[in-house]
Amino acid sequence: MTNALAIIAIVVSVVALVGTWWQARSESRSAIAAEDSAVTSREAADHAREAVEQSKRSAESGERNAIAAEESVKHADRSAKAAESATEIARVSADASHVSAKAAADLLRVELDREHNLLAPKVGGQWSLEPRSTSPHVKVLTYTFSLDRPYVILATAAAVNGNGQTVCSVSSTGSSTTSTYRVHVEDWARDREASGYRKLILRFWPPLAEEGRARPWTCRCGVQLDQGDHAGHWDVDVDVVPPESRRVVVMR
Ligand SMILES: [Zn+2]
Repeated sequence: MTNALAIIAIVVSVVALVGTWWQARSESRSAIAAEDSAVTSREAADHAREAVEQSKRSAESGERNAIAAEESVKHADRSAKAAESATEIARVSADASHVSAKAAADLLRVELDREHNLLAPKVGGQWSLEPRSTSPHVKVLTYTFSLDRPYVILATAAAVNGNGQTVCSVSSTGSSTTSTYRVHVEDWARDREASGYRKLILRFWPPLAEEGRARPWTCRCGVQLDQGDHAGHWDVDVDVVPPESRRVVVMR
C-alpha cells in the first residue's frame, strides 16, 4: 500500500513536473515569439523610418531640383535679357554709325558746294565798243571782264528775236594770276542804236590742261568738268547793254 502511494506520489510529481516544464516551455516559446514579434515590429518601424527618411531625402532632392530648375529659368531669362540688351546696343551703335557717316557725308557735301561757289567766276564786266585789231575803223560791241584765275570760256549771244544763239569769239590777256577776257559780240555800224542780241551766255570750266598762261586746276564738287555737256561747270548770263557813248563812238 505504501508503495502504491509512493508510486502515485511519484507519478503525480512527474506529471506536475512535466506540467511545469511544459508550461515553462510554452512560456519560453511565447517569450521568443513575443521577442520575434518585437524584432519584426522594430524592423518594420525601422523600415518605415527608413522609408520616411527616403521620402524626406527624395522631397529634399526634389526641392533642390525645383530650386535648380527655377535658377536655370532665371539664368535663361537673364541671358535672354542680356542678349536683348546686346542687340539693342548693337542696333543703337549701328544707328549712331549710320548717323555719323551721314553727318560726315553731309558735311563733305556742304564743304564741296562751298568750294564750288568760291571757285565760281565773279563776272562784273563792262560793255564797250572796241576797234577791231585788224580793221580799226570797225567797232565791235565787246564785253570785258577780269578774273583772278584762268578759265576755259564758251560765250554765245542770244538773239533779240529769239532766233537761236551765235557763238562769240573770246580773247584774253593777262598774267598767270589775273586774266582779262574780251567777248566780241557784234560789229557796230555807224547808224546802229541797238544790239541784235539781248543776252550774253558765258559758260566756264576749270582748265584741265596747261595752255598758255593757264595752269590747270579743278573743282571737286562732282559737276561735269569737261565740255561734253551743253551746260558749263558754271554758267553766267549777262544782259547785253551797249555803252551810252555808242552815239559818240562812230566810224569815220
Ligand atoms: Zn564745281
